[in-house]
Amino acid sequence: MPPNFKMVKKNSELVIPFKGLDLGRHHYDFVVEDAFIKELELPDITGGTLEVSLELEKESTLMVFDFLLKGSVVLPCDRCLVAYEQSLEGQFRLIVKMGEAFQELSDEMVEIPATEARIDLSQYVYEYILLMLPLKKVHPDDAEGNSTCDPEMLKKLEHHQEKNIDPRWEVLKDLKNKK
Ligand SMILES: [Zn+2]
Repeated sequence: MPPNFKMVKKNSELVIPFKGLDLGRHHYDFVVEDAFIKELELPDITGGTLEVSLELEKESTLMVFDFLLKGSVVLPCDRCLVAYEQSLEGQFRLIVKMGEAFQELSDEMVEIPATEARIDLSQYVYEYILLMLPLKKVHPDDAEGNSTCDPEMLKKLEHHQEKNIDPRWEVLKDLKNKK
């Protein structure tokens, strides 16, 4: 494991044994399950599933991985604080050079020792999930363009705002009191 890599819980589905694989194109399909996403400890994300379609172009000294990720994660809405399903979709490329040591050469290029026989892609999928998250995390609008935020929660938040209190604190307090 290269030193600058975050330790991410491994998913055996995402390990590609490339040694002995013929040169040329290979295709893989994975489903990243809810249980795995939960274990990743992504900020604020409490679940989700992702389909991963992976194309590998294997050449003699490098491999090109093209990821197509599609799915959704569950995270709290910035506006009403209620959890919602955020759909995600993205394409990413990872170039793996067979060389001397583990090192990151650029955002999309890494080097691994030529003696390696397999690569664990969990780390990359983790990073891609973070990259696919939108800046604005709110409930999507419905077909008519209306917000699908929780109206009850919005009312409460407004009420607290009028009283000039940080609304999030009050809502948390309310939630605690209910328990
Ligand atoms: Zn909302």
